[in-house]
Amino acid sequence: MSARIIDGKAIAATLRASVRERVAALSFQPGLAVVLVGENPASTVYVRNKDRAAQEAGLRAQTIRMPAETSQAELLAVIDRLNRDPNVDGILVQLPLPPGLLPRAVIEAIDPAKDVDGFHPLNVGRLQDGLDVLAPCTPTGVMRLLAAADIPLRGARAVVLGRSAIVGKPMSALLLAADATVTVAHSRTRDIAAECRRADVLVAAVGQPDMVRGDWLRPGATVIDVGINRLADGRLVGDCAYAECAEVAAAITPVPGGVGPMTIACLLENTVTASIKRRG
Ligand code: NAP
Repeated sequence: MSARIIDGKAIAATLRASVRERVAALSFQPGLAVVLVGENPASTVYVRNKDRAAQEAGLRAQTIRMPAETSQAELLAVIDRLNRDPNVDGILVQLPLPPGLLPRAVIEAIDPAKDVDGFHPLNVGRLQDGLDVLAPCTPTGVMRLLAAADIPLRGARAVVLGRSAIVGKPMSALLLAADATVTVAHSRTRDIAAECRRADVLVAAVGQPDMVRGDWLRPGATVIDVGINRLADGRLVGDCAYAECAEVAAAITPVPGGVGPMTIACLLENTVTASIKRRG
């Protein structure tokens, strides 16, 4: 079997176009503020891409750049200002923060109604409760991919590899809310290949290049590869051995061009959703 490719680039482009249309129809311009502390090279690229995508979608985008020596109090003061700014609908603090800054306290300082990353404990809890909420962008992007590819979730066995707060945990909550039967596996799982073989839908988010092999899959499964791993030779690969997995799966996301492009598209969508909720 040769798997159908779930084209994240195309699906993200469609989502971004629909966000642009929603923004154009509003009587106000939703605002997104991205805070970047320090000069982590990867973060600098991510923030630039977010800013560009937000501008293209018609959002009022601003990037606040702060030096690596910024104190916790200075960062909290900026967040307080953004919380109170009526033109700002979404606030995102790019992680990781430089050493000495406490990410948990920073995330908790963001107004939950403007928390477009979905990391504030109130939003995390609401997501676990199955409530309508600003959910983290990457797992939301996975749900959009599954919907666009018409993958049935109700009653399906879903296996999530990884239990991070950014991907694995919210992913499992979203799949559960979609009525899948969800297993979460991690580094202490006894027989991870056996868990994977039970999956109708496998979502891999472990950060281990090519870990999931073709013979770990149930024939006909859907494979969503969240992993982004840079090899020593410069190649970018996912957590699933693509060629092998594509032989067994019925549908699979490539890396790059699968989940990656969805994350920013969902950030734009979250910003518009937050703006509409907040401004009534
Ligand atoms: P993370 O915080 O490092 O979490 C990794 C998870 O995988 C942990 O729960 C860990 O288990 C588990 N794990 C690690 N090695 C394992 C192994 N050998 N067997 C089983 N489980 C293992 O990573 P993350 O932030 O969730 O990111 C995961 C991957 O997704 C990375 O490649 C990252 O670059 C990528 N990512 C992509 C996007 C995107 O937009 N496409 C966004 C975010 C992340 P323990 O909890 O037991 O340690």
